[in-house]
Amino acid sequence: MSSDTQTYLNFIDGQWVPSASGELFENRSPANIDDVIGRFQKSHAEDVVRAVEAAEAAFHEWRLVPAPRRAEILYRAAQIFTERKDKYAHDMTREMGKVLGETGGDVQEAIDMSQLMAGEGRRMYGQTVPSELRNKFAMSVRQPIGVCGVITAWNFPIAVPSWKILPALVCGNTVVFKPAEEAPLSGINVVKTLVDAGLPRGVVNLVTSDGPGAGAPMLSDPGVGVVSFTGSTETGRAINLACAGTFKKVHLEMGGKNVIMVMDDARLDLAVDGAIWGGFGTTGQRCTAASRVIVHEKVYAQFIDRFVARAKALRVGDGLDPNTEMGPSISETQLNKVMEYVEIGQREGATLATGGHRMTSGGYAKGYFLEPTIFTDVSPTMRIAREEIFGPVVSVIPCGSLDQAIAIANDVEYGLSASIYTQDIDRAFAAMRDVYTGLFYVNAPTIGAEVHLPFGGTKATGNGHREAGIAALDVFSEWKSIYVDFSGKLQRAQMDIEEI
Ligand code: NAD
Repeated sequence: MSSDTQTYLNFIDGQWVPSASGELFENRSPANIDDVIGRFQKSHAEDVVRAVEAAEAAFHEWRLVPAPRRAEILYRAAQIFTERKDKYAHDMTREMGKVLGETGGDVQEAIDMSQLMAGEGRRMYGQTVPSELRNKFAMSVRQPIGVCGVITAWNFPIAVPSWKILPALVCGNTVVFKPAEEAPLSGINVVKTLVDAGLPRGVVNLVTSDGPGAGAPMLSDPGVGVVSFTGSTETGRAINLACAGTFKKVHLEMGGKNVIMVMDDARLDLAVDGAIWGGFGTTGQRCTAASRVIVHEKVYAQFIDRFVARAKALRVGDGLDPNTEMGPSISETQLNKVMEYVEIGQREGATLATGGHRMTSGGYAKGYFLEPTIFTDVSPTMRIAREEIFGPVVSVIPCGSLDQAIAIANDVEYGLSASIYTQDIDRAFAAMRDVYTGLFYVNAPTIGAEVHLPFGGTKATGNGHREAGIAALDVFSEWKSIYVDFSGKLQRAQMDIEEI
């Protein structure tokens, strides 16, 4: 590592500061491990405690700032994200590998979310309802909760934190943010934007580290009221358990095993386009990646011919090269996990139709590159059809009917995203109703969320909350019911005493 490698700091109580221990970790580009992105603070419990204390102190004032004024800061954040979009996208591609077009989209999500949540500053509707009693008003308002612990994954390192931090702020909460250790620079870029937009001291704090270092200490800290997490199901389960002791509100967005169903009346070229983008976009490292494609047997052979040909033609490389269509895996560990699944799939008897190898020649030698991989003749009971692989591996499963496709679609642990390709509106609506996922697409791949709709999954993907859309406010606020009696006399509600 060269001596001019930049060292990045934590952000606590309005100051960029080193961690208490002074320990650092470095982050390198997955496309070229010689490219050192920077050195980051390896924080521990002490740093988290300081960040939570700063956020608790700032909460007393921030919760009283009128929501439309809080929103003005978010509007400015939207402008700053827009001005810095290219730089942030470039930083993100360097540190986590997805192609520039996709990282630009990631920053765009933050712009869109800033605008959406800024708008909420002038809405944040509660309810007014008629009272049972004369001369009495009854209503409910949203109240902030306090300090929100935000823990995120690396694959959407600006979009996902913005889905959490921006609604938390507009509701009047303060934040301690721990970005993924694989993409800390993008986390820092989010915080810099908010600070430059004028957020007061202590309202947002950032601590970088690995999960045990700075994630786990938030879970037991009684000063944290909400934990909002995006990451693997395994970590989410541990977080849920760890938060139980202090009764924190916990919001979990976790793994997926998403599915595209291709019916015999589908426009096949469109379905192939969808399977390519859904399966190999972000190198298959999206929570919504279409890692299963269920194809009606009448069009199965045709579909596979076209799908395999398109996958073979995908240009794999460094995401900074504008010609690249698919970047590297995030790490050696992740790459090895994918390679293990390639072996498992072959052992289980699936046909490896294309791919399955690490790419090591020439420009690939210094990165974690894999061939786009397709297994065909996959049975729904195989592990490659059931477990989240999180890499460029798609399993194609034959089916004989819509009912069978729906049964296969539902028969996994996860429930994030599903899609159907058909020209039959009856089939489309039946599948939309009967596939148990949080997201559903018709004639489009399983990816491509828009910020003004709720985002999240069922079963082992999520714990019932949603982020984005107005639903995001439910994670970061709690309802208070208010009764105002202006009758000038004691009136009793029906639940207290029955009028006779
Ligand atoms: P991960 O669970 O390993 O890490 C996620 C975050 O949790 C990181 O910041 C990590 O440092 C932290 N962490 C790890 N252990 C912790 C602990 N014990 N206590 C507190 N924090 C801890 O996940 P990952 O590999 O970074 O991301 C990939 C996973 O994220 C995939 O499963 C993917 O499906 C999922 N994901 C889900 C969504 C969604 O919206 N459902 C979106 C993106 C990614």
